[in-house]
Amino acid sequence: MGCAALISKDLVKVYRGGVVALDGLSVEVPGGCVFSLLGRNGAGKTTFIKIASTQLLPTSGYVEVLGFDVVEEAREVRRRIALVPQEGRPAYLNTPYEHVFHYLLTRGYSIFDAKRRTWEILQELELTEYAHRTCSQLSGGLRQRTLVAMALAPESELLFLDEPSIGLDAVTRIKIWQTIRSITKENGQTVILTTHYMEEAEALSDIVAIIENGHLMNVGTVDAIKKSLGYGVCVEFSGEGLELDKLKEYGRVVVVGGSVRVFTEERLGRELLEWALENGKRAVLRLVNLEDAFIASVGKVIEEYERRSEEIW
Ligand code: ATP
Repeated sequence: MGCAALISKDLVKVYRGGVVALDGLSVEVPGGCVFSLLGRNGAGKTTFIKIASTQLLPTSGYVEVLGFDVVEEAREVRRRIALVPQEGRPAYLNTPYEHVFHYLLTRGYSIFDAKRRTWEILQELELTEYAHRTCSQLSGGLRQRTLVAMALAPESELLFLDEPSIGLDAVTRIKIWQTIRSITKENGQTVILTTHYMEEAEALSDIVAIIENGHLMNVGTVDAIKKSLGYGVCVEFSGEGLELDKLKEYGRVVVVGGSVRVFTEERLGRELLEWALENGKRAVLRLVNLEDAFIASVGKVIEEYERRSEEIW
């Protein structure tokens, strides 16, 4: 990983109406890495991406992308970045080929190079079969693939991918993961990604930042984030009738929907699993994953809220 591709300092965004979407966010993204922004709905991820990609002005604070100020030097930033916007839609009457080809021309490619690169990227994303069909005739996933193809085509120094995998089938998703890995590791490009798929973030990210209510909750490598949970294993229970006070003796307990996760150390985890089996409870023992660390990070905020409002999560 190289020097910083993006630096944000004390970034604040207050929308009209007073919603505080970003509340003093400071992060640094090293060049040549995959940096994933995780957060619950409304945490401020898209707002951050919009500001960093020069689509939205901050209320205060500062963002520098590839050495350029996103407000004062927006044009320089735009030349060097590419974006898959959240819920973006390609133009219905254009084909995937036209989208990628014309985009490359606007990015300064010659006609010859734009043609070559267009076919290359359409092939990589398995879109050649659909190259000349208008987007109105394509499925939602194929339209999303077209947007990803546009963003990948110009080999920009920095790519913002705001929930790029939405609507993609599992095979395509894994293929795009491979591409993202190779453009960062082999070409030194930087990718800033938002996703709600924890397995995607875990598989791809060099660095993960968890944000909540416009605040940075946690940042680090996937391993560091998992370690910050403070426990190595999780016993996950499904079903009713669990005594949470008993479970709390083993470690940290988080209730999510219909399941109860007990984060604990390995010896206690085995003990708890045995107890569960003897008592007819449905439980599995596994290593902690990024989703656990995420839930625990944002869970803290929710637990505080609960204490104040005395509501049960
Ligand atoms: P999601 O995971 O649901 O996409 P997010 O983390 O990307 O969420 P943002 O879209 O950045 O969250 O929204 C952050 C906060 O700002 C939310 O409370 C949202 O309702 C609010 N917000 C977003 N856009 C606007 C807007 N144009 N005007 C007013 N408030 C907005």
